[in-house]
Amino acid sequence: MNESPLTDVDHLASLVSGGGPRTLEVRSPLDGSLLGSVPVVSPDGVRQAVHDARTAQAAWAATPMVRRCAIASRFRDLVLDNVEPLLTLVHRENGKSRINAFEELMDTALTSGYYSVSAARHLAPHRRQGAIPLLTRTIEFHQPKGVVGIISPWNYPLTLAVSDAIPALLAGNAVVLKPDSQTPFTALAALDLLIQAGLPRGVMQIVTGPGSELGTPLIDSVDYLMFTGSGRTGRGVAAHCAQRLIGSSMELGGKNPMLVLADADLDRAIEGGVQACFSTTGQLCVSIERIYVHQSLYDQFCARFADRVSRIRLGTEAGWEPDLGPLISQDQIDKVSHHVEDARSKGAAILAGGRARPDLGPLFYEPTVLTGVTEDMDLARDETFGPVVAVYPVASDAEAVERANDTEYGLNASVWSASHPHAFTVARRLRAGTVNINEGYAAAWASHDAPMGGMGESGLGRRHGAEGILKYTEPQSIAIQRLALIGPPGGVSRSAYARVMILAGRVLHRSVAHVGSLLSRP
Ligand code: NAD
Repeated sequence: MNESPLTDVDHLASLVSGGGPRTLEVRSPLDGSLLGSVPVVSPDGVRQAVHDARTAQAAWAATPMVRRCAIASRFRDLVLDNVEPLLTLVHRENGKSRINAFEELMDTALTSGYYSVSAARHLAPHRRQGAIPLLTRTIEFHQPKGVVGIISPWNYPLTLAVSDAIPALLAGNAVVLKPDSQTPFTALAALDLLIQAGLPRGVMQIVTGPGSELGTPLIDSVDYLMFTGSGRTGRGVAAHCAQRLIGSSMELGGKNPMLVLADADLDRAIEGGVQACFSTTGQLCVSIERIYVHQSLYDQFCARFADRVSRIRLGTEAGWEPDLGPLISQDQIDKVSHHVEDARSKGAAILAGGRARPDLGPLFYEPTVLTGVTEDMDLARDETFGPVVAVYPVASDAEAVERANDTEYGLNASVWSASHPHAFTVARRLRAGTVNINEGYAAAWASHDAPMGGMGESGLGRRHGAEGILKYTEPQSIAIQRLALIGPPGGVSRSAYARVMILAGRVLHRSVAHVGSLLSRP
């Protein structure tokens, strides 16, 4: 595939830092065809990439903020200028439909645009309350961590590779990224565009190869680790980071609920549900996998939802027609098939889909809707991460909230109601990092100024907003003490000093708190 430098896999493979005798073949999930190969970087190669990134970081951190932001802004423009080759690459490498690839591409552009205009504000030094009012002037600064390691998955190969790198770079860090072995070329295309945008060479490095081989040397040598992937891998990565006393951010899985309240607009809820459950063929961390419908709407919802789902168009074509592409791998087909067959054999009803579609391609599976799912079925609690959703009736808001919260995860949730105050009251009772009202996931995800991430087993830390950039920094407080030292002044007895300080401690902090609360009122 050599139509543009961004789809020229030999050019892209040349951007990998370090090499080795072994290579890794990348095949398209559309038809199994070979797209190209990337080197398997050795552990020494990973250490060298981190070393080189560290060397480049010093000059990068000294680059004026305005220049760093201009690069992020140019990167956004380049993404938008290169929609065609990027869509082609994501489609071929990940298999997702063009419309789903487009959503990802826009997300990448919008996140870069957001941080290009907000990074300076988030990172600006700001005054903090000093030890002694008027005499102590205290300012909080943010220093870059140094070299940030990023380990990213295959499901959103563009946005999850680069959208977490942009704030890390803008904060003055260098980045070493290890993309998933199934989708390295998309990450390399993003690096190509960052270099075109003016990012000095060496500031961002990409190493390719199995996570089980590259993970250890990467975590052993970076100063912070941003991980997106499964809970199983994430736990090991987090433990390794903790052992080294470096910070980490874990964006993990979910079993996300959607609540259709008694006063929901059914047309909107059905259309929104289709998008929320099946976008990128359900291989989306914030995908809905459980729908709780008020019993007064349940029968109608099930019939109409199943009918709509059965009309979803699957296909391998590169054009805009197909709604969904295939799954990414045989492992994904196996997991989805197991969840559906296990549920079917234990008595669940399948209202739509329920089978693989080898006639369309080796990795196609129909969007599937089930009812009658019980606790003994694997899909009741385990993340499927595929095009499968279970629908349940509930008698009240209280039952919907209780069942939605009955999970070890807490990533995303969705609430549907014609009344915003009603939906809002329900949303506030949900244990999920993002809650979308009358939307499935996109409203909260694309609110790039607001934190996004998971509670419980869905992860640690947040991306987007101030949290998504400050985590890549070390806060530093610098306090200037004027006039007197903190301690008993000469000529004053220690006991007299203590009495004055006790009085000051009562009065000053109370009045400062009072002034603070007045100032912080919305
Ligand atoms: P995975 O954990 O298998 O792989 C993710 C990344 O980790 C890959 O780059 C992989 O090479 C690497 N890796 C594998 N073993 C490693 C090791 N021992 N040390 C270091 N790195 C290692 O995840 P996956 O199955 O590819 O991705 C799907 C999962 O990711 C789902 O659970 C999904 O919910 C989750 N996810 C979460 C978010 C989020 O933002 N919360 C986004 C996308 C995907």
